[in-house]
Amino acid sequence: MTETTVTSASRSAAPDHGLDIWRELAISQQPSWQDSTVHRSSLDELSTLPPLVFAGEVDVLRERLAAAAQGKAFLLQGGDCAETFEGATADRISARVKTILQMAVVLTYGASLPVIKMGRMAGQFAKPRSSNDETREGVTLPAYRGDMVNGYDFTPESRGHDASRMVRAYHTSASTLNLIRAFTQGGFADLRLVHHWNKGFTANPAHSRYESLAREIDRAVRFMEACGADFDALTRVEFFASHEALLLEYERALTRTDSRTGLPYDTSAHFLWIGERTRDIDGAHIDFLSRVRNPIGVKLGPGTSPDDALALIDKLDPNREPGRLTFITRMGAKNIREKLPNLVSKVTDSGAKVLWVTDPMHGNTVTSPNGYKTRNFDDVMDEVRGFFEVHNELGTFPGGLHVEMTGDDVAECLGGADPIDQEAFLDRYESVCDPRLNHMQSLEMAFLVAGALSR
Ligand code: PEP
Ligand code: MN
Repeated sequence: MTETTVTSASRSAAPDHGLDIWRELAISQQPSWQDSTVHRSSLDELSTLPPLVFAGEVDVLRERLAAAAQGKAFLLQGGDCAETFEGATADRISARVKTILQMAVVLTYGASLPVIKMGRMAGQFAKPRSSNDETREGVTLPAYRGDMVNGYDFTPESRGHDASRMVRAYHTSASTLNLIRAFTQGGFADLRLVHHWNKGFTANPAHSRYESLAREIDRAVRFMEACGADFDALTRVEFFASHEALLLEYERALTRTDSRTGLPYDTSAHFLWIGERTRDIDGAHIDFLSRVRNPIGVKLGPGTSPDDALALIDKLDPNREPGRLTFITRMGAKNIREKLPNLVSKVTDSGAKVLWVTDPMHGNTVTSPNGYKTRNFDDVMDEVRGFFEVHNELGTFPGGLHVEMTGDDVAECLGGADPIDQEAFLDRYESVCDPRLNHMQSLEMAFLVAGALSR
Protein backbone atom coordinates (compact mmCIF):
# COMPACT_ATOMS: atom_id res chain seq x y z
CA MET A 1 0.00 0.00 0.00
CA THR A 2 2.73 2.45 1.01
CA GLU A 3 4.46 1.85 -2.27
CA THR A 4 1.29 2.54 -4.26
CA THR A 5 0.70 5.79 -2.41
CA VAL A 6 4.22 7.04 -3.04
CA THR A 7 4.04 6.16 -6.72
CA SER A 8 0.66 7.82 -7.13
CA ALA A 9 1.79 10.98 -5.38
CA SER A 10 4.91 11.32 -7.48
CA ARG A 11 2.95 10.69 -10.67
CA SER A 12 0.23 13.18 -9.90
CA ALA A 13 2.90 15.83 -9.29
CA ALA A 14 4.32 15.24 -12.78
CA PRO A 15 2.88 17.19 -15.74
CA ASP A 16 1.04 14.10 -16.97
CA HIS A 17 -2.03 15.04 -14.89
CA GLY A 18 -1.99 11.61 -13.25
CA LEU A 19 -3.16 10.00 -16.47
CA ASP A 20 -1.48 6.70 -15.59
CA ILE A 21 -2.58 6.30 -11.99
CA TRP A 22 -5.42 4.02 -13.15
CA ARG A 23 -2.81 1.39 -14.01
CA GLU A 24 -2.26 0.79 -10.29
CA LEU A 25 -5.94 0.53 -9.40
CA ALA A 26 -8.43 -2.31 -9.50
CA ILE A 27 -9.80 -2.72 -13.02
CA SER A 28 -12.43 -5.02 -14.47
CA GLN A 29 -13.65 -5.98 -17.94
CA GLN A 30 -10.24 -5.71 -19.65
CA PRO A 31 -9.06 -8.10 -22.38
CA SER A 32 -6.27 -10.68 -22.02
CA TRP A 33 -4.38 -9.96 -25.23
CA GLN A 34 -2.86 -13.05 -26.75
CA ASP A 35 0.26 -11.49 -28.29
CA SER A 36 2.28 -8.99 -26.25
CA THR A 37 4.29 -7.73 -29.26
CA VAL A 38 1.12 -6.87 -31.20
CA HIS A 39 -0.28 -5.32 -28.04
CA ARG A 40 2.71 -2.99 -27.60
CA SER A 41 2.95 -2.01 -31.27
CA SER A 42 -0.81 -1.34 -31.48
CA LEU A 43 -0.72 1.01 -28.52
CA ASP A 44 2.42 2.72 -29.88
CA GLU A 45 0.66 3.25 -33.19
CA LEU A 46 -2.51 4.58 -31.57
CA SER A 47 -0.56 7.06 -29.52
CA THR A 48 0.93 8.63 -32.67
CA LEU A 49 -2.28 8.76 -34.76
CA PRO A 50 -4.20 12.04 -35.10
CA PRO A 51 -6.99 12.80 -32.64
CA LEU A 52 -10.48 11.82 -33.79
CA VAL A 53 -12.11 14.91 -32.31
CA PHE A 54 -10.85 18.41 -31.63
CA ALA A 55 -10.69 19.60 -28.03
CA GLY A 56 -12.56 22.78 -29.01
CA GLU A 57 -15.55 20.68 -30.08
CA VAL A 58 -15.46 18.89 -26.75
CA ASP A 59 -15.65 22.27 -25.00
CA VAL A 60 -18.64 23.25 -27.15
CA LEU A 61 -20.39 20.03 -26.16
CA ARG A 62 -19.72 20.74 -22.48
CA GLU A 63 -21.46 24.11 -22.93
CA ARG A 64 -24.41 22.47 -24.68
CA LEU A 65 -24.74 19.91 -21.90
CA ALA A 66 -24.49 22.68 -19.31
CA ALA A 67 -27.55 24.26 -20.96
CA ALA A 68 -29.35 20.92 -20.74
CA ALA A 69 -28.41 20.55 -17.05
CA GLN A 70 -30.11 23.93 -16.55
CA GLY A 71 -33.27 22.89 -18.38
CA LYS A 72 -32.49 24.81 -21.56
CA ALA A 73 -31.73 21.92 -23.94
CA PHE A 74 -32.46 18.21 -24.29
CA LEU A 75 -29.96 15.44 -25.08
CA LEU A 76 -30.72 12.70 -27.60
CA GLN A 77 -28.05 9.98 -27.52
CA GLY A 78 -28.59 6.93 -29.68
CA GLY A 79 -26.97 4.13 -31.61
CA ASP A 80 -25.99 0.48 -31.55
CA CYS A 81 -25.32 -1.45 -28.39
CA ALA A 82 -22.17 -2.61 -30.16
CA GLU A 83 -20.99 -1.18 -33.46
CA THR A 84 -19.24 -3.66 -35.75
CA PHE A 85 -16.52 -3.18 -38.34
CA GLU A 86 -18.70 -4.88 -40.93
CA GLY A 87 -21.65 -2.64 -40.09
CA ALA A 88 -19.70 0.57 -40.75
CA THR A 89 -21.12 0.96 -44.27
CA ALA A 90 -22.40 4.17 -45.84
CA ASP A 91 -25.98 2.86 -45.93
CA ARG A 92 -26.14 1.84 -42.31
CA ILE A 93 -24.38 4.91 -41.00
CA SER A 94 -26.62 7.20 -43.03
CA ALA A 95 -29.76 5.34 -41.89
CA ARG A 96 -28.76 5.75 -38.25
CA VAL A 97 -27.85 9.43 -38.60
CA LYS A 98 -31.08 10.02 -40.51
CA THR A 99 -33.16 8.37 -37.78
CA ILE A 100 -31.46 10.40 -35.05
CA LEU A 101 -32.08 13.61 -37.02
CA GLN A 102 -35.72 12.64 -37.54
CA MET A 103 -36.17 11.94 -33.83
CA ALA A 104 -34.44 15.22 -32.99
CA VAL A 105 -36.83 17.31 -35.11
CA VAL A 106 -39.84 15.79 -33.37
CA LEU A 107 -38.27 16.25 -29.94
CA THR A 108 -37.22 19.83 -30.69
CA TYR A 109 -40.82 20.64 -31.52
CA GLY A 110 -42.17 18.79 -28.48
CA ALA A 111 -39.74 20.33 -26.01
CA SER A 112 -39.51 23.75 -27.69
CA LEU A 113 -35.83 23.43 -26.85
CA PRO A 114 -32.65 22.78 -28.79
CA VAL A 115 -31.87 19.06 -28.98
CA ILE A 116 -28.23 18.02 -28.63
CA LYS A 117 -27.65 15.21 -31.11
CA MET A 118 -25.18 12.53 -30.10
CA GLY A 119 -24.45 9.10 -31.56
CA ARG A 120 -23.45 5.99 -29.69
CA MET A 121 -21.33 5.91 -32.82
CA ALA A 122 -17.78 6.13 -34.17
CA GLY A 123 -16.18 4.23 -31.28
CA GLN A 124 -18.77 2.00 -29.56
CA PHE A 125 -16.70 -1.14 -30.17
CA ALA A 126 -15.95 -2.56 -26.69
CA LYS A 127 -18.49 -4.38 -24.51
CA PRO A 128 -18.53 -5.36 -20.83
CA ARG A 129 -19.83 -8.90 -20.30
CA SER A 130 -21.40 -10.64 -17.34
CA SER A 131 -19.47 -13.82 -18.04
CA ASN A 132 -15.94 -14.35 -19.41
CA ASP A 133 -17.01 -17.37 -21.42
CA GLU A 134 -19.79 -18.52 -23.67
CA THR A 135 -20.83 -22.15 -24.09
CA ARG A 136 -22.63 -23.46 -27.19
CA GLU A 137 -23.44 -27.12 -27.64
CA GLY A 138 -20.82 -28.19 -25.12
CA VAL A 139 -18.06 -25.95 -26.55
CA THR A 140 -16.77 -23.12 -24.34
CA LEU A 141 -14.96 -20.12 -25.79
CA PRO A 142 -14.19 -16.59 -24.59
CA ALA A 143 -17.26 -14.32 -24.69
CA TYR A 144 -17.58 -11.76 -27.46
CA ARG A 145 -16.30 -8.42 -26.08
CA GLY A 146 -16.88 -6.14 -29.04
CA ASP A 147 -15.06 -5.84 -32.37
CA MET A 148 -12.29 -3.88 -30.70
CA VAL A 149 -11.31 -7.03 -28.76
CA ASN A 150 -12.42 -10.15 -30.66
CA GLY A 151 -14.74 -11.43 -33.38
CA TYR A 152 -18.38 -12.53 -33.04
CA ASP A 153 -17.85 -15.81 -34.93
CA PHE A 154 -17.87 -18.71 -32.51
CA THR A 155 -14.42 -20.14 -33.30
CA PRO A 156 -11.24 -20.18 -31.17
CA GLU A 157 -9.43 -17.99 -33.76
CA SER A 158 -12.13 -15.37 -33.82
CA ARG A 159 -12.71 -15.28 -30.06
CA GLY A 160 -9.01 -14.77 -29.16
CA HIS A 161 -8.23 -11.24 -27.93
CA ASP A 162 -6.33 -9.52 -30.72
CA ALA A 163 -4.86 -6.09 -29.85
CA SER A 164 -4.51 -5.07 -33.50
CA ARG A 165 -8.30 -4.73 -33.45
CA MET A 166 -7.85 -1.53 -31.41
CA VAL A 167 -6.12 0.04 -34.41
CA ARG A 168 -8.90 -1.11 -36.70
CA ALA A 169 -11.44 0.33 -34.26
CA TYR A 170 -9.65 3.67 -34.49
CA HIS A 171 -9.73 3.67 -38.32
CA THR A 172 -13.35 2.53 -38.45
CA SER A 173 -14.25 5.30 -36.00
CA ALA A 174 -12.39 7.80 -38.19
CA SER A 175 -14.25 6.81 -41.35
CA THR A 176 -17.59 6.72 -39.53
CA LEU A 177 -17.00 10.15 -38.07
CA ASN A 178 -15.92 11.47 -41.45
CA LEU A 179 -19.21 10.38 -42.99
CA ILE A 180 -21.23 11.76 -40.07
CA ARG A 181 -19.48 15.11 -40.46
CA ALA A 182 -20.18 15.09 -44.21
CA PHE A 183 -23.86 14.28 -43.70
CA THR A 184 -24.46 16.79 -40.96
CA GLN A 185 -22.60 19.64 -42.66
CA GLY A 186 -23.27 18.93 -46.31
CA GLY A 187 -27.05 19.35 -46.76
CA PHE A 188 -28.37 15.96 -45.62
CA ALA A 189 -29.55 17.48 -42.33
CA ASP A 190 -31.76 20.12 -43.99
CA LEU A 191 -34.73 20.65 -41.67
CA ARG A 192 -37.23 20.51 -44.54
CA LEU A 193 -35.78 17.23 -45.79
CA VAL A 194 -35.82 15.64 -42.34
CA HIS A 195 -39.39 16.79 -41.83
CA HIS A 196 -40.32 15.30 -45.21
CA TRP A 197 -38.94 11.89 -44.08
CA ASN A 198 -41.09 12.12 -40.96
CA LYS A 199 -44.18 12.58 -43.12
CA GLY A 200 -43.37 9.16 -44.59
CA PHE A 201 -43.53 7.69 -41.10
CA THR A 202 -46.96 9.11 -40.24
CA ALA A 203 -48.33 8.12 -43.66
CA ASN A 204 -48.24 4.51 -42.40
CA PRO A 205 -51.79 3.77 -41.08
CA ALA A 206 -50.25 2.17 -37.97
CA HIS A 207 -48.93 5.59 -37.00
CA SER A 208 -52.01 7.65 -37.78
CA ARG A 209 -52.30 8.70 -34.14
CA TYR A 210 -49.10 10.74 -34.57
CA GLU A 211 -50.47 12.60 -37.58
CA SER A 212 -51.76 15.59 -35.65
CA LEU A 213 -48.35 16.23 -34.11
CA ALA A 214 -46.74 15.82 -37.54
CA ARG A 215 -49.24 18.33 -38.96
CA GLU A 216 -48.37 20.83 -36.23
CA ILE A 217 -44.70 20.49 -37.08
CA ASP A 218 -45.57 20.94 -40.74
CA ARG A 219 -47.36 24.19 -39.97
CA ALA A 220 -44.41 25.36 -37.86
CA VAL A 221 -41.97 24.68 -40.71
CA ARG A 222 -44.21 26.56 -43.17
CA PHE A 223 -44.56 29.43 -40.74
CA MET A 224 -40.77 29.66 -40.46
CA GLU A 225 -40.50 29.61 -44.24
CA ALA A 226 -43.08 32.39 -44.57
CA CYS A 227 -41.20 34.46 -42.02
CA GLY A 228 -38.04 34.14 -44.12
CA ALA A 229 -36.15 31.87 -41.69
CA ASP A 230 -32.59 31.17 -42.79
CA PHE A 231 -33.02 27.58 -43.95
CA ASP A 232 -29.46 27.53 -45.24
CA ALA A 233 -28.28 27.73 -41.66
CA LEU A 234 -30.66 24.87 -40.85
CA THR A 235 -28.97 22.56 -43.33
CA ARG A 236 -26.08 22.08 -40.89
CA VAL A 237 -26.34 20.54 -37.45
CA GLU A 238 -23.92 19.77 -34.64
CA PHE A 239 -23.54 16.06 -34.07
CA PHE A 240 -21.37 14.57 -31.35
CA ALA A 241 -19.76 11.15 -30.98
CA SER A 242 -19.78 9.07 -27.80
CA HIS A 243 -19.01 5.59 -26.53
CA GLU A 244 -18.46 3.66 -23.33
CA ALA A 245 -14.87 4.24 -22.18
CA LEU A 246 -14.19 0.60 -21.37
CA LEU A 247 -10.72 -0.24 -22.72
CA LEU A 248 -8.60 2.22 -20.79
CA GLU A 249 -5.43 1.49 -22.77
CA TYR A 250 -7.19 2.64 -25.93
CA GLU A 251 -8.60 5.73 -24.22
CA ARG A 252 -5.21 6.55 -22.69
CA ALA A 253 -3.43 6.22 -26.05
CA LEU A 254 -5.85 8.73 -27.60
CA THR A 255 -5.62 11.20 -24.74
CA ARG A 256 -3.71 14.33 -25.74
CA THR A 257 -2.80 17.62 -24.15
CA ASP A 258 -4.70 20.47 -25.78
CA SER A 259 -2.34 23.22 -26.86
CA ARG A 260 -4.92 25.92 -26.09
CA THR A 261 -5.65 24.97 -22.51
CA GLY A 262 -2.75 22.69 -21.56
CA LEU A 263 -5.31 20.17 -20.31
CA PRO A 264 -5.79 16.50 -21.26
CA TYR A 265 -8.68 15.55 -23.55
CA ASP A 266 -9.64 12.02 -24.52
CA THR A 267 -9.81 12.61 -28.28
CA SER A 268 -11.43 9.24 -29.10
CA ALA A 269 -14.89 10.89 -28.76
CA HIS A 270 -16.57 14.05 -27.57
CA PHE A 271 -18.42 12.34 -24.71
CA LEU A 272 -17.47 9.19 -22.81
CA TRP A 273 -19.48 7.25 -20.33
CA ILE A 274 -18.65 4.75 -17.61
CA GLY A 275 -20.82 1.65 -17.54
CA GLU A 276 -22.81 0.21 -14.66
CA ARG A 277 -20.25 -2.59 -14.30
CA THR A 278 -17.13 -0.41 -14.15
CA ARG A 279 -18.20 2.54 -11.99
CA ASP A 280 -16.42 1.29 -8.85
CA ILE A 281 -15.60 4.50 -7.00
CA ASP A 282 -12.02 3.44 -6.20
CA GLY A 283 -11.47 1.70 -9.52
CA ALA A 284 -9.45 2.50 -12.61
CA HIS A 285 -12.29 3.77 -14.81
CA ILE A 286 -13.46 6.48 -12.46
CA ASP A 287 -9.89 7.60 -11.79
CA PHE A 288 -8.93 7.87 -15.46
CA LEU A 289 -12.09 9.66 -16.57
CA SER A 290 -11.83 12.07 -13.63
CA ARG A 291 -8.63 13.40 -15.21
CA VAL A 292 -9.77 14.27 -18.74
CA ARG A 293 -11.67 17.43 -19.69
CA ASN A 294 -14.42 15.71 -21.70
CA PRO A 295 -17.96 15.69 -20.41
CA ILE A 296 -18.49 12.34 -18.69
CA GLY A 297 -21.55 10.15 -18.22
CA VAL A 298 -22.10 7.44 -15.63
CA LYS A 299 -24.74 4.74 -15.89
CA LEU A 300 -26.71 4.27 -12.68
CA GLY A 301 -28.64 1.04 -12.13
CA PRO A 302 -31.32 0.27 -9.51
CA GLY A 303 -28.70 -0.62 -6.87
CA THR A 304 -27.25 2.91 -6.80
CA SER A 305 -27.53 4.59 -3.39
CA PRO A 306 -27.59 8.37 -2.96
CA ASP A 307 -24.17 8.08 -1.29
CA ASP A 308 -22.80 6.31 -4.38
CA ALA A 309 -24.09 9.15 -6.54
CA LEU A 310 -22.64 11.81 -4.25
CA ALA A 311 -19.24 10.07 -4.19
CA LEU A 312 -19.26 9.95 -8.00
CA ILE A 313 -19.99 13.68 -8.11
CA ASP A 314 -17.09 14.41 -5.72
CA LYS A 315 -14.68 12.43 -7.86
CA LEU A 316 -15.84 13.32 -11.36
CA ASP A 317 -17.16 16.83 -10.86
CA PRO A 318 -15.42 18.30 -7.81
CA ASN A 319 -15.94 21.85 -9.12
CA ARG A 320 -19.68 21.33 -9.68
CA GLU A 321 -19.38 22.47 -13.26
CA PRO A 322 -22.67 22.19 -15.19
CA GLY A 323 -22.16 20.07 -18.31
CA ARG A 324 -19.32 18.05 -16.83
CA LEU A 325 -21.34 15.18 -15.41
CA THR A 326 -24.36 13.33 -16.78
CA PHE A 327 -26.13 10.61 -14.81
CA ILE A 328 -27.71 8.10 -17.17
CA THR A 329 -30.25 6.19 -15.10
CA ARG A 330 -31.25 2.67 -16.18
CA MET A 331 -33.48 1.47 -13.39
CA GLY A 332 -35.99 -0.70 -15.23
CA ALA A 333 -39.66 0.18 -15.66
CA LYS A 334 -40.53 -1.69 -12.47
CA ASN A 335 -38.05 0.24 -10.32
CA ILE A 336 -37.85 3.74 -11.66
CA ARG A 337 -40.75 5.32 -9.77
CA GLU A 338 -39.52 3.80 -6.53
CA LYS A 339 -35.75 4.24 -6.85
CA LEU A 340 -35.21 7.45 -8.79
CA PRO A 341 -36.89 10.06 -6.52
CA ASN A 342 -34.54 9.59 -3.56
CA LEU A 343 -31.47 9.66 -5.79
CA VAL A 344 -32.53 12.83 -7.57
CA SER A 345 -33.57 14.59 -4.34
CA LYS A 346 -30.31 13.85 -2.53
CA VAL A 347 -28.21 14.93 -5.50
CA THR A 348 -30.27 18.11 -5.90
CA ASP A 349 -29.96 18.87 -2.16
CA SER A 350 -26.17 18.56 -2.45
CA GLY A 351 -26.15 21.53 -4.82
CA ALA A 352 -24.64 19.55 -7.71
CA LYS A 353 -25.90 20.45 -11.19
CA VAL A 354 -25.80 17.14 -13.03
CA LEU A 355 -27.69 16.36 -16.22
CA TRP A 356 -30.25 13.58 -15.77
CA VAL A 357 -30.77 11.29 -18.75
CA THR A 358 -32.87 8.13 -19.02
CA ASP A 359 -31.59 4.93 -20.59
CA PRO A 360 -34.86 2.96 -20.79
CA MET A 361 -33.17 -0.02 -22.43
CA HIS A 362 -30.74 -1.70 -20.04
CA GLY A 363 -33.09 -2.21 -17.10
CA ASN A 364 -35.70 -3.84 -19.33
CA THR A 365 -33.90 -6.70 -21.05
CA VAL A 366 -35.73 -10.04 -21.13
CA THR A 367 -35.47 -13.32 -23.03
CA SER A 368 -38.25 -14.05 -25.52
CA PRO A 369 -39.98 -17.45 -25.35
CA ASN A 370 -38.04 -18.43 -28.49
CA GLY A 371 -34.73 -17.59 -26.82
CA TYR A 372 -33.73 -14.11 -28.04
CA LYS A 373 -32.47 -11.26 -25.86
CA THR A 374 -35.17 -8.64 -26.30
CA ARG A 375 -37.06 -5.70 -24.81
CA ASN A 376 -40.75 -4.84 -24.90
CA PHE A 377 -41.46 -1.47 -26.45
CA ASP A 378 -44.12 -0.90 -23.76
CA ASP A 379 -41.64 -1.49 -20.91
CA VAL A 380 -39.16 0.87 -22.55
CA MET A 381 -41.84 3.55 -22.88
CA ASP A 382 -43.03 2.92 -19.33
CA GLU A 383 -39.54 3.67 -18.00
CA VAL A 384 -39.40 6.87 -20.08
CA ARG A 385 -42.78 7.92 -18.65
CA GLY A 386 -41.64 7.10 -15.12
CA PHE A 387 -38.53 9.22 -15.66
CA PHE A 388 -40.65 12.21 -16.71
CA GLU A 389 -43.11 11.70 -13.85
CA VAL A 390 -40.39 11.59 -11.20
CA HIS A 391 -38.65 14.71 -12.48
CA ASN A 392 -41.90 16.59 -12.93
CA GLU A 393 -42.90 15.80 -9.35
CA LEU A 394 -39.56 16.90 -7.96
CA GLY A 395 -39.34 20.00 -10.11
CA THR A 396 -36.07 18.80 -11.66
CA PHE A 397 -35.36 18.61 -15.36
CA PRO A 398 -35.64 15.34 -17.31
CA GLY A 399 -32.77 16.25 -19.60
CA GLY A 400 -32.35 13.51 -22.14
CA LEU A 401 -32.84 10.14 -23.71
CA HIS A 402 -30.18 7.45 -24.23
CA VAL A 403 -31.33 4.65 -26.53
CA GLU A 404 -30.06 1.62 -28.38
CA MET A 405 -31.46 2.06 -31.88
CA THR A 406 -30.71 1.60 -35.54
CA GLY A 407 -31.98 3.12 -38.76
CA ASP A 408 -32.58 -0.31 -40.26
CA ASP A 409 -35.71 -2.43 -40.40
CA VAL A 410 -34.51 -5.03 -37.89
CA ALA A 411 -36.64 -7.08 -35.50
CA GLU A 412 -35.01 -7.11 -32.07
CA CYS A 413 -37.42 -5.36 -29.68
CA LEU A 414 -41.03 -6.55 -29.32
CA GLY A 415 -44.09 -4.40 -29.93
CA GLY A 416 -44.60 -0.88 -31.26
CA ALA A 417 -47.59 0.42 -33.23
CA ASP A 418 -46.52 -1.60 -36.27
CA PRO A 419 -45.76 -4.51 -33.98
CA ILE A 420 -42.72 -6.76 -34.07
CA ASP A 421 -43.37 -10.28 -32.82
CA GLN A 422 -40.86 -12.93 -31.87
CA GLU A 423 -41.28 -14.85 -35.14
CA ALA A 424 -39.69 -11.90 -36.93
CA PHE A 425 -36.49 -12.43 -34.88
CA LEU A 426 -35.75 -15.53 -36.96
CA ASP A 427 -35.08 -13.40 -40.07
CA ARG A 428 -34.34 -9.90 -38.88
CA TYR A 429 -32.43 -10.11 -35.58
CA GLU A 430 -28.99 -8.64 -36.39
CA SER A 431 -27.56 -7.21 -33.19
CA VAL A 432 -24.37 -8.86 -31.91
CA CYS A 433 -25.17 -7.63 -28.43
CA ASP A 434 -28.31 -5.96 -27.02
CA PRO A 435 -31.60 -5.54 -28.95
CA ARG A 436 -32.16 -2.16 -30.60
CA LEU A 437 -35.26 -0.21 -31.49
CA ASN A 438 -35.65 -0.32 -35.25
CA HIS A 439 -36.25 2.75 -37.44
CA MET A 440 -40.03 2.83 -36.90
CA GLN A 441 -39.88 2.07 -33.18
CA SER A 442 -37.31 4.84 -32.73
CA LEU A 443 -39.52 7.39 -34.46
CA GLU A 444 -42.53 6.23 -32.51
CA MET A 445 -40.62 6.74 -29.29
CA ALA A 446 -39.70 10.28 -30.41
CA PHE A 447 -43.37 11.11 -31.08
CA LEU A 448 -44.42 9.71 -27.70
CA VAL A 449 -41.67 11.57 -25.84
CA ALA A 450 -42.47 14.78 -27.74
CA GLY A 451 -46.05 14.43 -26.55
CA ALA A 452 -44.84 14.08 -22.94
CA LEU A 453 -42.45 17.03 -23.28
CA SER A 454 -45.03 19.41 -24.68
CA ARG A 455 -47.47 18.86 -21.82
C1 PEP B 1 -24.57 -0.41 -22.69
O1 PEP B 1 -24.83 0.79 -22.68
O2 PEP B 1 -24.56 -1.11 -23.72
C2 PEP B 1 -24.33 -1.09 -21.38
C3 PEP B 1 -23.60 -2.18 -21.27
O3 PEP B 1 -24.98 -0.46 -20.40
P1 PEP B 1 -24.89 -0.59 -18.82
O4 PEP B 1 -23.47 -0.22 -18.44
O5 PEP B 1 -25.88 0.44 -18.36
O6 PEP B 1 -25.27 -1.98 -18.45
MN1 MN C 1 -26.28 -2.47 -24.47
